[in-house]
Amino acid sequence: MIVLTNDEGRPGIGRTAARLQEGATALDAIEAGVRLVEADPAIRTVGRGGLANILGQVQLDALLMDGDTLRTGSVGALEGFAHPITVARAVMERLPHEMLVGAGAARFAAEIGAETAQNLTDAAAEAWGDWFDRTVPLKDRARWRDTAALIPYVQGAIKADLLPAERAADPMPQGADTTTFLAIDNKGSVGVGVSTSGWAWKYPGRLGDSPIVGAGAYAHSRFGAAACTGTGEMAIRAGTSRSIVLYMKMGLSVADAVDAAIDDLRDLKGGLIDRITIHAIDRDGQDRVVAVNAQQDRNYWRWREGEAAPSRTLAERVNL
Ligand code: ASP
Repeated sequence: MIVLTNDEGRPGIGRTAARLQEGATALDAIEAGVRLVEADPAIRTVGRGGLANILGQVQLDALLMDGDTLRTGSVGALEGFAHPITVARAVMERLPHEMLVGAGAARFAAEIGAETAQNLTDAAAEAWGDWFDRTVPLKDRARWRDTAALIPYVQGAIKADLLPAERAADPMPQGADTTTFLAIDNKGSVGVGVSTSGWAWKYPGRLGDSPIVGAGAYAHSRFGAAACTGTGEMAIRAGTSRSIVLYMKMGLSVADAVDAAIDDLRDLKGGLIDRITIHAIDRDGQDRVVAVNAQQDRNYWRWREGEAAPSRTLAERVNL
C-alpha cells in the first residue's frame, strides 16, 4: 500500500514497491529492499561500503519490527556479514530474544548460515586512512591496529587509548545516513526496517538509535510507524520513534505526532545536539518527513499502490 524511505534507500525502494504490489508482507518487502541497499558499495552509510569505526572496522546495526505482533529483531556492532537486516529478522523469528550485539550477533549469524562479507571497501579503507593520518598521534600509530584486540588492551599490554582520538573525530561526517523503510502491506500490516554502519569513526561497540527499538524505529499496525536517522544519541534519549506512534495512539494526527516528538527533542540538554530526520506514516498511509537542524535539503522517496514508480519529495525543515 505504501513504502517510504530516505535517499539512501533509493536502490531498494523499487524492489520493495514491486514486492508490495505482488502482495508480499510488509516485512518481506522491506527486507528485500534493504538488502539491495546493504549490498550497494556506493552507499557509504549502510552495509558493504559503510564507513568504519575508529579502529577501521565496519560494525553494522539493523532492526526490523513487525507492527502486528510487536516482535522486533535487531543486531548491533555486527562484523563480517553482508545482510544485517536478514540476521535481525532471524533474531526475531528464531530466538526468544529481541537483540544481539557484537561477538554474540556474529556467532548467531554464522550459526544460521548468514552470508559473510568483507564490508570494508577500498574507498572506505582510504577514507579511514585519511582520518587516521589527520587524527591519531604519531606515537600511537604503530600500535593502533593491535588495539582492536580487546584482551591485551584490558590486560595492559597495549596502551593506545582511543578516547582522545574519539573526541577529536568529526562528530558527524557529511552525507552520513542510515536507511529506513516504512511500509504497509495489502493486509494493513505495518512494518519498519533500518540498516546502518552508524557514525564513521565511532568508538568500537557504539550503538546508535538504529538497532534500539523505539529510538531508531517503531511500528504498530493499529497506528503507524516512525523511524529516525541522523544523531542517534538524540533519538535514544527522547525515545523518538516510539513516542510518535504513542502520540498517534493518543489521537494525534501523524503531522501533530511528529511535532510533539520534535518538541521532546527540544528538552534535550548537553550531549550531542545535532541533526535528525524523522520519517513517519499513519496506518492510512499519510506521511510526514521532517529534517530537524538539517544543513541542507533532504529528500525522501514514497511509493503508493497503483503508482508506476516511486517519487522523490523534499522533506520539511525545522530547527530546534
Ligand atoms: N542514526 C544513525 C546512528 O546514529 C546515523 C545516521 O543515520 O546518520 O548511528
